[in-house]
Formats: sequence, C-alpha cells, structure tokens
Amino acid sequence: MTLGTDVSALSVRGASAAGRDLSIVVPVFNEAAGLALLHERLSALAATLKARHGVACEVIYVDDGSKDDSLAIARDLPPDGLDVQVVSLSRNFGKEAALMAGLDHAKRGGAVLFMDGDGQHPPALIETLVGHWIDDGYDVVFTAKAHRDNESFVMRQAVHGFYTLINWGARQKIPADAGDFRLLSPRAAAALRQLPERNRFFKGLATWIGFRQMRVAYEPAPRAHGVTSFSPSRLVGLSIEGLTSFSVAPLRLASLAGLLMAFIAFLFGLSILWETFVDGKSVPGYPSLMVSVMTIGGVQLLMIGIVGEYIGKILSELKARPIYFVAEHSVKHADAPSERVDAPADRAAAE
Ligand code: UDP
Ligand code: MG
Repeated sequence: MTLGTDVSALSVRGASAAGRDLSIVVPVFNEAAGLALLHERLSALAATLKARHGVACEVIYVDDGSKDDSLAIARDLPPDGLDVQVVSLSRNFGKEAALMAGLDHAKRGGAVLFMDGDGQHPPALIETLVGHWIDDGYDVVFTAKAHRDNESFVMRQAVHGFYTLINWGARQKIPADAGDFRLLSPRAAAALRQLPERNRFFKGLATWIGFRQMRVAYEPAPRAHGVTSFSPSRLVGLSIEGLTSFSVAPLRLASLAGLLMAFIAFLFGLSILWETFVDGKSVPGYPSLMVSVMTIGGVQLLMIGIVGEYIGKILSELKARPIYFVAEHSVKHADAPSERVDAPADRAAAE
C-alpha cells in the first residue's frame, strides 16, 4: 500500500500533442460590467492557442453568488471557438472556494489556468504561460507582480512580514508576491485536486505540490471596473487563513516568547535575591509588579488567541462540510447547441 498519489501519467511529455486541453477558470463576483469584454478577449485567445499550439480551450465562469447581472450575462456568452461552462454557486463562498469549484469542473487530463474576472490579469499573457507549459515542460507557471511601487510602505512591510512568517522553516517556500493568475499542467492540476483540506489557501497549495515551478513577472492592469472585494480586514483574514493552514510559525514564536519571558523572570529573580542579601535593600515593588503582571497577562491572552485560531481551523476541517454548493451549471460546446446540466448537489457529487 502506498500513501502517495501518482499523477505522472499526466505529464506533459506523456500527453499526445493532438489532445491538449486547457480549462480557463474565472471566479466572478459582481463583474457584470466587464464580463462580455473579457469573454471576447478569451475567444480571440482561444483561436490563437488552437492555431499555434494545438490547444483546445474551455472557459469556466464560476459565479460566486454575485448580486448583479453577472450570472445572466455569463449564461448568454457565446461559445465562439471555446466551450463555455457556467457554474453558479448557491451563495458567496469566497474566491478560494470559487477557484476550487472551477478546478472540479475542469476537463480531466487537461491543464488549468486561473485568472480574475476584473480585467487585472491580461489575457495576452496567457500565451506566454501556455508556452512555458508546452514548450518548456513547466508544471506550475505562476505570475508575480513585477514590483509593488504603487503600494504604501506599511502594506509592503506587512506583506514582507507575512511571507517571512509563513515561510519560516518551510521546506517549500511560498514565493512572495505570487498571485492567483497561474497555469497548472495536467499532473499539477490532478495533484491539487487530491488535497483534501476545506480551508484552502490556493497560492500556498499550488506551491506545496511541487513539480517544476516557473515565475513570470508581470504588471497587473488596473481594475477594469468596480472596486476590489478584498478590504484590509478581509486581507487580514486571508493572511490568518494562509498562516494557520501552512505554518506553525506563530505557535513556535509563542513558545519562544514564553521561553524568553521565563528567562528574563529568572534573571530578575536573581537580581532581587542579590539586592536583598548582598546589598541589604528591600525591593520597592509596586510599579515593577504592575508592569510585569500586565505584560505577562497581555502576552498570555495573545498566545491563547493564536492557539484558538488553530483550534478553530481543526474544528472547521473536522466538520468536513462541502467547500461550496452548485446551484446551477450549464455547458455550451463550441459548435454545438447549449445543454443545461442540473445542479450536482455539492462538491462530492460534482466529481
Ligand atoms: N471574487 C470571488 N469571490 C469573492 C471575491 C472576489 O469570486 O468573494 C473574484 C472577483 O470577481 C475577481 C477575483 O476574485 O475575479 C479577484 O477579486 P478582486 O479583484 O476583488 O481582488 P484583488 O484583485 O483586489 O485582489
Ligand atoms: Mg482584482
């Protein structure tokens, strides 16, 4: 019996040149204004990929409980040169869940590419990513912001701190700045599907699986319309999510801080003994006592909070709820009339 999973049969070298498939997964949350234009660009791109690389494309729009007309618009998009799937989730489950839904519906044995639906990820770059997969044999081709010049100093420091912490002692480092715009080869996509966790930090998981990884620097375009749905508080949430799924560094830091405080307390105790017995002074205690009580109390509460985050994670993994529910699913094949597939109940049923 083995406890590993062999996905080697899906390696790019093993695949026949004629049968290459690419599924483009686009999570959509209130993106009605830009969807038609994005689709037009993807259709044009599909034609290029077919002609130059022999890649057959499909696009999967995952409507993550949009409040606007995104779903209605997505349903009407024409399958011009590429298959169009529309997967509508039963409510807003968050981007990570939407990406998972897309991955679950992507064609088995094909490569998968993830891109945002707001125009920030330039479709023109996709051909470069596909080239690194097909011609150079890379499995995970991820894009990273070429620079962060337009972000504030505080934001850059926070990002730096986050990656230092999450990569502390990690065998496979998550590259700082890498985004969700990335291509996974068939075997990398198959590997990602095998990961069972409910709390998904996609950037981390796509790195963790290994294989041949390649970085492509790019300049994200400004949002084509609307505003970002990731507020500072949501970013903090995502960071805690990432940290607790990928690293026990905060717990180790907590132990180290405890050790350090105990050591300082020991030295302090020694100095008090010295002052009492050698110098013959009685120690004036009140202020120092208050400070140390408050420090220790504060640090302990913080540590309990950190441990609580991990316990919360264990609880949500233990409940093992589906990551999302599909309310509606339709497929339109290029060159064929549309068909409506009715809702598979959940992720497990969608398999
Ligand atoms: N998104 C989603 N569900 C959400 C929030 C966002 O599917 O709950 C999608 C959104 O439609 C977009 C992508 O995730 O395609 C990135 O979102 P956004 O542009 O708000 O994030 P940012 O680019 O600022 O990180
Ligand atoms: Mg965006």
